[in-house]
Amino acid sequence: TAKKKKRAKENSIKVAVRCRPMNDRELDMGDMACVEIEDDTLTISADPDGTGQVNCIGGRSARSKNPTRAFTFDYCYGPESEQAQVFEDIGTGVLENAFAGYNASVFAYGQTGSGKTHTMLGSGVDAGLIPRICWCLVEKLHETEQRGDPETSCLGTGAESTTYSLEASYLEIYNERCIDLLAPPPNNSEPSIKLRVREDPKSGPYVEDLTTVPVRSMHEIRRMMAVGARARTVAATNMNNKSSRSHAIFTLVFKQTTISGDLSSATDTVSKINLVDLAGSERVSASGVKGRQLTETANINRSLHTLGRVINALSRSSGRKRGYNTPSKDNLFGTPTTSGGAPPLIPYRDSTLTWLLKPSLGGNSRTTMFATVSPAMVNFEESLTTLRYAQECS
Ligand code: ADP
Ligand code: MG
Repeated sequence: TAKKKKRAKENSIKVAVRCRPMNDRELDMGDMACVEIEDDTLTISADPDGTGQVNCIGGRSARSKNPTRAFTFDYCYGPESEQAQVFEDIGTGVLENAFAGYNASVFAYGQTGSGKTHTMLGSGVDAGLIPRICWCLVEKLHETEQRGDPETSCLGTGAESTTYSLEASYLEIYNERCIDLLAPPPNNSEPSIKLRVREDPKSGPYVEDLTTVPVRSMHEIRRMMAVGARARTVAATNMNNKSSRSHAIFTLVFKQTTISGDLSSATDTVSKINLVDLAGSERVSASGVKGRQLTETANINRSLHTLGRVINALSRSSGRKRGYNTPSKDNLFGTPTTSGGAPPLIPYRDSTLTWLLKPSLGGNSRTTMFATVSPAMVNFEESLTTLRYAQECS
């Protein structure tokens, strides 16, 4: 709707939620759907059939008089939603921003199995955001090729010309350390090489020695994604852990070089697009967990929490949150509020994820938080937690 578009345009932070269809396991259990979507509002109910027998694991919300909660977001996608629609709403904005020379980040947040990878990567013909964004950028590259070499073809025409280039990198953050997913795979029995995050005085944080691959075609993108997927599996096995315990960051660097008609000057416009498949948000109980698993759980919880705090703080300082000085009643992230209108401090440094993405968060960057949920009652508690997180980001 027009209203939705207008709001999306005014803010550099957007929040979307997507509910996947019931899966076979949930259907076989005879489970009920507890999520409903209408326009930009999602309703989650602990008593969806109105029998008054509220879901016993629904916690506080279920025990309250009104077992239903409604959430409004920039975009809400139901079980029938299509990848093409998601791309049209979210992906095209990211691309417009990139063409204008700004950075962008898209995060997929949600419990394992809720549809993060489906939304970001998709599968086979049901391509998600990453391949669709890549298609459009690669198409831009081809535009240049068709025009021929600007150094010669524009000579004498006096017309300005632009050439494009694209580079990609793919990394994983596990236990606050970075793993290069495009580096030659280490011996299967050896642990993956961990890279360091360093800080450039001008451009800010970056990963030292990270592989960056120039991209010219979708074929190259596909090969790279396959290499990355394999590396993720190897790393996951070595850590004795599933890939859902790490954040995967796919980064595209799109460069536009504009050469003046008389060839006397060239200007570069560079934009970075980060597409992030976050670790599963499910709260693993710390009881009975020791050593490595405890550290891992603590790291995931802290980094997701920090990401939420950063986005929340950016949202507040951009004036998106009305009542800027009043914490919302949930105030999940405990963002310090200020008196006198000074912007809150943005805690980028509190996690590797936010520190590394700092140059692409805030300012003129566009940030999209994509929260994914299961529709099933068995997941009520996790879905409600995800929705509250997403709401605090918006
Ligand atoms: P996550 O990455 O959050 O762990 P996945 O993206 O792997 O979850 O999704 C789990 C399963 O559900 C996959 O088989 C995926 O294809 C399916 N799925 C997820 N979201 C959707 C959706 N919106 N429509 C159809 N199938 C989906
Ligand atoms: Mg996944």
